[in-house]
Amino acid sequence: MESTDVLVIGSGIAGLCAAIEAARTGATVAVASAGKTMSGSSFFPGTWGLGLIGPVDEDDEQDLIDTIQTVGGGVADPTLVQTFVHGIPQAIQWLEQDLGVELQRPQSAESAQQKQFIPCFDHKTRMWRGLTRKPLEDACMAQVESLGIRLLPHHELIDLVEDTTGKIVGAVLFNQTNERIVTFTAKATIIAAGGTGGLFERSLTSFDVLSSSQAIARAHGASLTNIEFMQMMPGFNEPKRNLVFNEKTWRYVKFDQPVEIDDDKLDDLLEQRSGYGPFTSRLASRAIDLAIDQAGAEGLALHYDFPREDVPEFVQTFATWLQDEHGIAPTDEMRVAMYAHAANGGIKIDKTAYTGVEGLYACGEATGGMHGADRIGGLSSANGIVFGRIAGASAARAALGASEAAAPMDTALPQYGIATADAERLTRSLRHTMSTYCMINRTEADLSKALQELESLQDKAMALSKPHTNDCEIAALARLQSQIQLSMEMVKAMRKRTESLGSHYRAD
Ligand SMILES: Cc1cc2nc3c(=O)[nH]c(=O)nc-3n(C[C@H](O)[C@H](O)[C@H](O)COP(=O)(O)OP(=O)(O)OC[C@H]3O[C@@H](n4cnc5c(N)ncnc54)[C@H](O)[C@@H]3O)c2cc1C
Repeated sequence: MESTDVLVIGSGIAGLCAAIEAARTGATVAVASAGKTMSGSSFFPGTWGLGLIGPVDEDDEQDLIDTIQTVGGGVADPTLVQTFVHGIPQAIQWLEQDLGVELQRPQSAESAQQKQFIPCFDHKTRMWRGLTRKPLEDACMAQVESLGIRLLPHHELIDLVEDTTGKIVGAVLFNQTNERIVTFTAKATIIAAGGTGGLFERSLTSFDVLSSSQAIARAHGASLTNIEFMQMMPGFNEPKRNLVFNEKTWRYVKFDQPVEIDDDKLDDLLEQRSGYGPFTSRLASRAIDLAIDQAGAEGLALHYDFPREDVPEFVQTFATWLQDEHGIAPTDEMRVAMYAHAANGGIKIDKTAYTGVEGLYACGEATGGMHGADRIGGLSSANGIVFGRIAGASAARAALGASEAAAPMDTALPQYGIATADAERLTRSLRHTMSTYCMINRTEADLSKALQELESLQDKAMALSKPHTNDCEIAALARLQSQIQLSMEMVKAMRKRTESLGSHYRAD
């Protein structure tokens, strides 16, 4: 059995910031991640990097707070929003000056005011920075080495360990490399394992976002919040999959199949849809997303009709990128489908990133409450940095304040497993259920069907589970059960919210 002061689960931006801050506070730190070190959506290779926004100055803070509440449909936690917005300028300074991460900026003060820098769903320009992978990776790796942070890549969290008082005192990890289960004692554990995209068939997140950790935290007493709110995003399905559709190009789209939108309204709706990335129920241009959804798994057939003269710069850049990187010409027939993207909700935390369960903290996309029903673009990376740092500091303080050494755990490890082929088949069914009934067009009838199917999957998993099996099969069952649990919690929250709000659309 191994031991550390602080164990961080997840090696995206939130987990790394948490680990660095905890180690700088003086704690010994280990970072376990299902993917490689520096993985998850934060290091998704299919994009240039991440936009990062914050208030322009102190005077802008209140406006950003108010806008988050408005865009978030009033369901964000006011204290978290306040802490979040107030923490962004310091977090960016920390990233640049303490860690030495080089951030991109608008070319000039003038260009920072241009419309293209207004964040998605916002009403004005903010302070904008661009976070690209290489500078972030280099700076984080230098910190990891100098602070002696222990890295455990390809180690998946399959359970947390409680002592007799319910305090979290460690974790059960599955080492995917040697296929062995290991236990880790930790005085404090931080969950930073990303969002819920892993529960859907078409997902614009990376494969290591397993979407199991929220249910593991819940099983040990944490609560979930705003879990029905999730960004769904149009993406290419043909000629290539898993590519984000550039929202600014909607205005140049011609549909190649009939859609249920009046011809005289179509241009205005496409123009409005060009203003933001993920689906929202708040705007009339939701009709475009609903047309995509209606086209089903194949996607909606369309092509571009870009202007021949006075081509805007971003169109030129985008068309060149599409052609050079992906061999797609603008005139090619394309199919666009809805993809699950980033979660707006997750594990409930307070302003110190504490989950309410002793020994357990959480941060990043695994958490909720700081965004609400719709999220302003560029605030997910900011969330990872601000609450990552807060979680790291809180966990380190708790660990260093603990009087005794991490107690050796007398834990009964899970004994039941499932054949990995069965687990994979059931996970595919789960993703199919979530994609069929829980994307953007939600109704009571469909959601109750989803719940029935998930209950039936749970029964099948139970029926196929067997004792005294190997660690690989034990991990497969634990992962599957957590994914089913989280899916069920999401569906229940979607059913409970009978009105449309932000990313949650109730067609009935
Ligand atoms: C294409 C794309 C573009 C985006 N653009 C932007 C943008 O411009 N601005 C913005 O703010 N946001 C953007 N986002 C969203 C943003 O990238 C994410 O919300 C954010 O990076 C999440 O960071 P995180 O550290 O919380 O989680 P992630 O980066 O997803 O990291 C999750 C980590 O947890 C690990 N993990 C998962 N499950 C387990 C488990 N059971 N056990 C152990 N480890 C586990 C994974 O291996 C990974 O290391 C974008 C996302 C994508 C996919």
